[in-house]
Amino acid sequence: MSRHERRLKLKQSVDAVTRRGVDLSAPPNDQQWAVIAATRVLIDTLDSRHPTRAANTAKRAHEVFETSLKTNPSPHPIACAKGCAFCCHVSVTATAPEVFLVANALREKHKDDLQAILYRVQAADQKTRALTSMERAAQRVPCALLEDNACSIYESRPGACRGFVSTSAQACERGFNGDHTVRIDTPGVWLSLRSAQKQALLAAIAATDRQSRCYEFHHALRIALENPDAETRWLKGEDVFKDVSFERMEDPAAEAHNQRIIATLVAGALGKETA
Ligand code: SF4
Repeated sequence: MSRHERRLKLKQSVDAVTRRGVDLSAPPNDQQWAVIAATRVLIDTLDSRHPTRAANTAKRAHEVFETSLKTNPSPHPIACAKGCAFCCHVSVTATAPEVFLVANALREKHKDDLQAILYRVQAADQKTRALTSMERAAQRVPCALLEDNACSIYESRPGACRGFVSTSAQACERGFNGDHTVRIDTPGVWLSLRSAQKQALLAAIAATDRQSRCYEFHHALRIALENPDAETRWLKGEDVFKDVSFERMEDPAAEAHNQRIIATLVAGALGKETA
């Protein structure tokens, strides 16, 4: 593809992804261009001059995800509903922009009682920081943001929470009660779109030369709440989450594959030749 053709394709794909999100019925090459276009949209948000542009980037990524879900209705109904929160007792990871979006939502919502929320996040962080995912699930430590069995920042919840849905509440309950053999089925549409959203967000962060990671949520959120200037410092290039554990792939081959995908998305979004 020539430089001109790549630019044209990128522009058309940005228009399409803005209107319809990622279309899983499109040919694979067009689907890849849709994720490249989503990356471009997120880079532009992250490169804007707005003081909360990191949080805005996460918001934009969530909008692409929700638009994509409407374009690709799943044939398998999901069982998730308000009041069912078995999955809010397992480890969550989130990128820096997603953490800032939640921190800003909490500041907005709790103008008069932010300290009480901070205490809750600090207490949850103290309980969960040293735990593995398995230990965390076994101990059933609830997310600090769970109130009356519902997410208190639902509109701003991280992508990991958005994409983690189930076709059976009974299966989730069995898992919650310690049944390690149970299978939690998430419809393929949700898995594919969550993966696309995560890759675009990680690629946009990488393209703007910042640490592109999914951090342990309680610890990262605690830092973002304890430091009102954390987003500004992160935008200036400071690694404010350097002490927070982050998601790593056990398998080096899988990690290398992931890195290749991110590199392809970055190259495409910047108008360069993709591998
Ligand atoms: S952020 Fe909300 S949806 Fe995610 S684990 Fe916490 S309470 Fe549940």
